[in-house]
Amino acid sequence: MLPLPPPPEPPESTGERSRPAPPKRPPVQDPETFPKEWRAFLKSNVYHYQLLSKAERRRLRNDTRAMIAKKDWEGCGGLSVTDEIKVTIAAQACLMLLGQEHDYFGHVRTILIYPSSFQASDERWEDEGWLPEAAGGQAVYRGPVILSWDTVLAEGRAPSAGANLVIHEFAHQLDFIDGYADGTLDLQGEHTERWQEVLNSEYNRLRREIRQGHETFLGDYAATSKTEFFATASERFFTQPAKLRHFHPELSEMLSATYAVDPERWFRAKKS
Ligand SMILES: [Zn+2]
Repeated sequence: MLPLPPPPEPPESTGERSRPAPPKRPPVQDPETFPKEWRAFLKSNVYHYQLLSKAERRRLRNDTRAMIAKKDWEGCGGLSVTDEIKVTIAAQACLMLLGQEHDYFGHVRTILIYPSSFQASDERWEDEGWLPEAAGGQAVYRGPVILSWDTVLAEGRAPSAGANLVIHEFAHQLDFIDGYADGTLDLQGEHTERWQEVLNSEYNRLRREIRQGHETFLGDYAATSKTEFFATASERFFTQPAKLRHFHPELSEMLSATYAVDPERWFRAKKS
């Protein structure tokens, strides 16, 4: 949609007594394209929004609006999808795109939302046999992203808790772009090789530390595969960036180059 036309220029002075200036109205910003209620959802449910610069906030609003329009949103398990749900999910996903040229996760057509955890198509082995896995989220290769709303909302409001389901599942979708679910990314030039080196060495280090019984910052789940490693590292990058840099400086540097944003600055700016 086009922005509103600029207000008319004041008439040139003719020497006459000027009429009193009309009362000043607050500046209007994309009111038609980003409704006021949506802004309230960003403020209450997507805590990162308040950490961003003005320009980043504007871009996030625009991207959120576009992503909402481009995707099919489907409620499952009795959930009706509201604007609040769409805004809260789309804005968290678009945080990951703030630094890059992108197509709004163009290969993801549909977002499915359950009220809470659901039975994923993966299975886990139990004594009784293979059981369907209860999951909070799932990214399907060349398919939808599936999320549970209670987790999305809780984590959107707790920006530095270290976990973020939306970022995790959409990181998988970024990983899938090159056709493989293996943590390799569709990056520019020299970044590709460097990322591969860092991914391999950090992943192997994590597995070694877990085998030796150490407590790790990334956790056991990140050591189950390279795609889980990348998805979990992405969660930490956006939610605990200073800790990630402390424990894994090279990984942090590569994720900074990949996402081209500086979440550490966001959190610092909030503190000061
Ligand atoms: Zn995962």
